[in-house]
Amino acid sequence: MQELTHYINGAHVKGSSGRFADVFNPATGEIQAKVPLASAEEVAKAVEIAQNVQPEWAAVNPQRRARVMMKFVALLQRDMDKLAEALSREHGKTLPDAAGDVQRGLEVVEFCIGAPHHLKGEFTDSAGPGIDMYSMKQPLGVTAGITPFNFPAMIPMWMFAPAIVCGNAFILKPSERDPSVPLMLAELMEEAGLPKGVLQVVNGDKEAVDAILHHPVIQSVGFVGSTPIAEYIYGTGCANGKRVQCFGGAKNHMIVMPDADMDQAADALVGAGYGAAGERCMAISVAVPVGDETADRLIEKLVPRVEALKVGPYTSGNDVDYGPVVTAAAKANIERLVQTGIDQGAELVVDGRDFSLQGYEDGFFVGAHLFDRVTTDMDIYKTEIFGPVLSTVRAQSYEEAIGMAMNHEYGNGTAIFTRDGDTARDFANRINIGMVGVNVPIPVPLAYHTFGGWKKSMFGDLNQHGPDAFKFYTRTKTITSRWPSGIKEGGEFSIPVME
Ligand code: NAD
Repeated sequence: MQELTHYINGAHVKGSSGRFADVFNPATGEIQAKVPLASAEEVAKAVEIAQNVQPEWAAVNPQRRARVMMKFVALLQRDMDKLAEALSREHGKTLPDAAGDVQRGLEVVEFCIGAPHHLKGEFTDSAGPGIDMYSMKQPLGVTAGITPFNFPAMIPMWMFAPAIVCGNAFILKPSERDPSVPLMLAELMEEAGLPKGVLQVVNGDKEAVDAILHHPVIQSVGFVGSTPIAEYIYGTGCANGKRVQCFGGAKNHMIVMPDADMDQAADALVGAGYGAAGERCMAISVAVPVGDETADRLIEKLVPRVEALKVGPYTSGNDVDYGPVVTAAAKANIERLVQTGIDQGAELVVDGRDFSLQGYEDGFFVGAHLFDRVTTDMDIYKTEIFGPVLSTVRAQSYEEAIGMAMNHEYGNGTAIFTRDGDTARDFANRINIGMVGVNVPIPVPLAYHTFGGWKKSMFGDLNQHGPDAFKFYTRTKTITSRWPSGIKEGGEFSIPVME
């Protein structure tokens, strides 16, 4: 049995707490490794190292720090296949999807190459007589991030790349479900020229997270994961005086107007609802056709597409649409929620419950499910299922549809499919959700824009990546400076004498 490690001060270090978690291969159900769960002492050791190396790293000029990112991009490209394979093996997503996970992280690293520009301060010449005023953006010191299982490459990079390029040290606490890729990323950052100890990986669970939240040296905490934990981390981190940003769960609605191209809408829903087995915070989990006729047409298009989805292990290459979910517990939770949908009166028009894959009977596979006539009081509507289950809620008008999305407690992403520009503009303006797609089902902003939801999908002020990341990982210092008048009145040509 492979025993994974932490990555401390440039070396793989075995866990010393004596506690471990199992890392599964979700396709086979087998335990393939065990990952150490750090104690508070192990976290404290990493923080001490980070605190020692950070000032020297901050003193490296921004252009040189950016060059580490340039080299890191090249190494990610070199090792793309290896990273994708390791990612799929622990997460279960298909190989092309795993490569996409690495790629969307890489794009944020590329954005970080522009750090010298983003770290420039402001300057006011002659703010008063002989007075100049200027500001600097300085790193925070030791920063930390806690990441979820569903994007084990992308989300760690969204955090550590901007943190580090700003001159901070960073401690990453990845998900204990798929910790191998984060360890590989830390190695690659060092190969790219990052000094030891600037990026460290501490594996663990709540104990390590609590140690991070209570450590006085750690200045900021970034979190991505489920909403209850996001709320806990935001509250505890803020109470301990840290700068905190937490991104939580989602229930993303896609509104389908009667004038939409129904084939296009159905294709979009199938990709956005079932890709990565629905384990994406930007997955569409609720389809809202407007009008019964639209709903009937949409369901007619959806059913054959959902029934035709190919589910299988990542080792099947491009031949599968989605893989298993991450754990047996996740699978059981999805199955339980599907049953509540049936019990509460939703119509299961594609039933994936008897799905089984020959040779992979112990894998955590879940067949594709499609519900029609879901209502807003049902558990499958209110709860984030995080599985291959799409709910259709029929709305009788555009106002009812937009109201539904606005009244849901989550506000991560949403989309509208229509041919009418006026409806699309109205939707984009009024909706209280952070990321909006117009005829685009998964509107994940690119690296140079920012990513973040509203309502219970986000706690904090600044989004991830884009210009916000440079604000989150720096603090501003403003200097007011006066220099007394010097020799500018002219040179003295006679020898100075005492008067
Ligand atoms: P999770 O909340 O279970 O775990 C996230 C992290 O928190 C992990 O590192 C985990 O070890 C840690 N953690 C778990 N329980 C904890 C506790 N009691 N105290 C302290 N730390 C704890 O989330 P997950 O299952 O890994 O990821 C899926 C969730 O993440 C979904 O809800 C999804 O919507 C959300 N997500 C959100 C975004 C976003 O940007 N909004 C992106 C990706 C995933």
